[in-house]
Formats: sequence, structure tokens, C-alpha cells
Amino acid sequence: MFIILFKLSLINGREKSYKIMLTKYYMDNQDKCPTCGKEGQKVANFTVQRFVQKEFRKYVVEDDFYLCMEAKCEVGYFNNEIEKIVLSKNLKRPLWYKEDAESRLICHCTKITEEDIIKTVIETDLKNMRHIMFYLKERFSNACGSMNPLGKCCVTTFNEVITKARRIKQNIHIQSELNPNLLDEIQPYLNLKENSVKVDINQLDKEIMIKEPTSTCGMSKEERKSSCC
Ligand SMILES: [Zn+2]
Repeated sequence: MFIILFKLSLINGREKSYKIMLTKYYMDNQDKCPTCGKEGQKVANFTVQRFVQKEFRKYVVEDDFYLCMEAKCEVGYFNNEIEKIVLSKNLKRPLWYKEDAESRLICHCTKITEEDIIKTVIETDLKNMRHIMFYLKERFSNACGSMNPLGKCCVTTFNEVITKARRIKQNIHIQSELNPNLLDEIQPYLNLKENSVKVDINQLDKEIMIKEPTSTCGMSKEERKSSCC
């Protein structure tokens, strides 16, 4: 392989042979974080520009980037093709899934955190994202493209937290059977009173219809017509 490339470089000039090698490398690895090697999620330039601190904005003027999703990695956005990285600490707001994040912000538009969702599920027994969001904020949002560092709706993450909350709620009753990880997970919520807040779901639905008659925020893909809420 090396000999073939070397000969190519003699015929076509060094630059071209390098270009062949690098293009292949980037085609195969453009979505892999250059620091941790994990696959990132593609994010439009519009979103990247909004989240990068002002002094770093000049590095992200036109290209789309990938967001590193690895909790332990310090990288935020990366683009292997133009060899640019923006560290997580150089973003305007912390990435909720990184190990050093102080609070896990799940809905960036309404500022609902993971703790808010878990507390609500335990105390009210609400199980649906729209119900939980409206119960907490009395409104929905439609600004995911500019508020979420992924540039897309938080519905998947929000629903994952609801699943986690329901697991915590069940596991509180079987503490002696839990492995250390699950035991750690329930610890912050042991003082909450299960189902202590009564919420009338019919009434909640009525209020949603009055205040937010057109919002599709939190609906499944099948329920909503556009790709995002
Ligand atoms: Zn990474």
C-alpha cells in the first residue's frame, strides 16, 4: 500500500497523493470524535454558532459539525474535514450528558432538568412528556433548533428520562435487591412522597387545548406532521 501511494505521489505530485489518503480517512471517520473515537451526532452550523462562546465563533463560521456524545470526553463540537474542535467548556451552556455537568438540562427551551422530570413522575404519577412539561411550565416550546445544542427536539431524551424515573419509582420499593448502580440512582429521590400530588389528567388536557391548541411539542413522530415540534 505504501509503495503504491509513494509511486502515485511521484507521478502526480505529493499533494495529490496526500489528498487521496486524507479524503478516504475522513469519509470513513468524519463522524468519529478525534479525541475519544466515539460516533458523534451531526449538527447544523446555525446551531453550532449559537452555542459556541463568542470568541470561538470565528472557527465555526460555515461548516456543519458533529457533537461528541461521550460523557467522559472534553470535546463538544468537532469537524474532522477542516480539523476543528470546540471543547465542551467553550460552549455557552454545559452539555447535559457530560460527566462534569452540574445539572442535566433536558428541555433547553423550557429549562426542565432531569431532576424536575424524575420528581414529577414520582410525586404525580404523570407518565407522558406533554403532561409533564405542561404541568411544570404551563407552556410548550418550539425553539429546539436554536436552544438545544443538538439542534433538534428533546423528545427522545425526555422520554428516556421518564423511563428512568419510572424505574427509580419501582426500585425504591425493592432496595435490598438492587445492585450498587441502581441503588445510587435512587438515592437522591428517597425523601420524595410517592403519588403525593393529585393531578387531574382530563383537566390538564383541557388546559393544554386552551393554552396551546396548535403545539405539537412532545408528540411522537406519527402524531405530528413536521419533523420537529
Ligand atoms: Zn469525544
